[in-house]
Amino acid sequence: MIKTPKRNPSVVIIGAGMTGILLTIKLHEAGITDITILEKKEKIGGTWRENTYPGVACDVPAHLYSYSFEPNPEWSNRYASGDEIQAYFEKVSRKYNVLERVRFNEAVTDAEYSRGKWTVESSVGNTYEADFLISATGILHHPFKPDFDGQESFKGAMFHTAEWDHSVDLKGKRVGIIGTGSTATQIICELPKQADNLTVFQRTPQWIAPTPNREFSETIKQKCRDSRLRIEIAKKVYHTIFEQIFSKALVGNKLSHFILSTACKLNLRLGVKDKELRKKLTPDYKVGCKRLVMSGDFYSAIQRQNVDLITAGIECITESGVRTIDGKDHDLDVLVVATGFDPVAYMRPMTMKGKGGTSIDQTWQKKVRAYRSVLLPEQPNFFLMLGPNTPIGNFSVIEMSEVQVPYVLQLIERWRENEYDEVACTQEAMEGFNQRLKDAMGDTVWTSGCQSWYLDADGDPLSWPFTWKQWKQEMETPDMNDFMTARYPNKVKSKSKSKSTEEALVS
Ligand code: NAP
Repeated sequence: MIKTPKRNPSVVIIGAGMTGILLTIKLHEAGITDITILEKKEKIGGTWRENTYPGVACDVPAHLYSYSFEPNPEWSNRYASGDEIQAYFEKVSRKYNVLERVRFNEAVTDAEYSRGKWTVESSVGNTYEADFLISATGILHHPFKPDFDGQESFKGAMFHTAEWDHSVDLKGKRVGIIGTGSTATQIICELPKQADNLTVFQRTPQWIAPTPNREFSETIKQKCRDSRLRIEIAKKVYHTIFEQIFSKALVGNKLSHFILSTACKLNLRLGVKDKELRKKLTPDYKVGCKRLVMSGDFYSAIQRQNVDLITAGIECITESGVRTIDGKDHDLDVLVVATGFDPVAYMRPMTMKGKGGTSIDQTWQKKVRAYRSVLLPEQPNFFLMLGPNTPIGNFSVIEMSEVQVPYVLQLIERWRENEYDEVACTQEAMEGFNQRLKDAMGDTVWTSGCQSWYLDADGDPLSWPFTWKQWKQEMETPDMNDFMTARYPNKVKSKSKSKSTEEALVS
């Protein structure tokens, strides 16, 4: 019997960041050739293209923050800088011919689904048809900018960390920074080397996990070049530490939490001798409740002569700087807004209509949630990479995407085998999945009493309340009982010109 060739779906991916690149490589490896990535900017790289602030780096060890199939012996440090990571993604994209599939400067403005096809509109007026639409926009890419009273009156330069204005020379300047999250911490470690003075406006102190950086010598790099096993071992060690200590500590393992807490508390005790300053820097919530800040330098940076820590709340912004609620004016030339991101915007502001005309804003009106982070009941043949309840935290997002991509590929593979033209999770499956997570959240550290971007508007954490191991196991194979599928015998033929598609259509 002649085996029917597999169908070759057309796939549109939104975003050419870490996940979009990975998806393209893996779809192509699976034999799918009709792939278009729509990228709103002029370059690939996502987070690493956008964030160019002084000190930008990844606080996950570089060997862990690399694709499993592209280890990089050239990493210069244990924690790689933003520039180096951007260069890595550019190199990988070139090597795997990803760039030729990217349409740059084309943001997706609208997507509409009908009978097994997505019609996708872009900002330059192009229209694409696709069997599958995949959002790979990442989580934190919409800057959150609070509306401070009087901010329009400020005479100096003011910008968000993700929109760094490199035309502003910081030499000899008085710079202020609002926020003390992971981003601000990296800037605080770097900026005092450039600016005359740095004033840090802290609303809530952070726990800092001691993670000293280390330069990799030429000898180490050569050993890594000579032996991939060496990199694999380093990766395994880092992964085990993250899984056993960081990850387990957050989801209720008492021993892991004790170890992590002790490390953070000792770090503060040993790093800051001045009692008054230490008090200001001591959080009143559990370690890990907010996303843990990882830094080997923060405590020494905050104690530099030219750095001031202000803990009085911000009353308003004036034409000359920031006025705090104790009535003090802090004169500044530059004000950096390090207030984080909107974590639930995902691929929006694009509009999106799924089956029966249900818009994404309607679907998420009450709550932003998904089935297994990846699927939505009303949006068939659509996958949301790194969606709500992906086990974010301090893990490598590359590792997370490398778990989600094979899951998505399995669902696409069934389409290729002609099992269905349309696949979506059921409403019940999504409700059940989310209820199970909600029931387990009480055991996690995120609900122990702090404010953070992990929490949605109802105070429910957007993370995964079980172990990494369990997540991986549950993501191994899609449970088809949780899906609704449909066939469309008169479905519009794929526009793909590839041989396998044409054969499939003929058969
Ligand atoms: P963030 O963690 O959300 O921190 C925002 C900071 O701004 C907090 O200190 C917050 O104070 C403060 N803030 C917000 N609104 C304010 C207001 N109205 N007045 C005064 N202060 C205000 O944002 P982020 O530092 O950009 O980090 C976001 C996430 O990005 C991180 O958690 C991490 O997942 C990721 N990231 C990763 C890396 C990496 O190396 N892998 C580096 C940077 C960022 P409160 O604490 O009081 O809310």
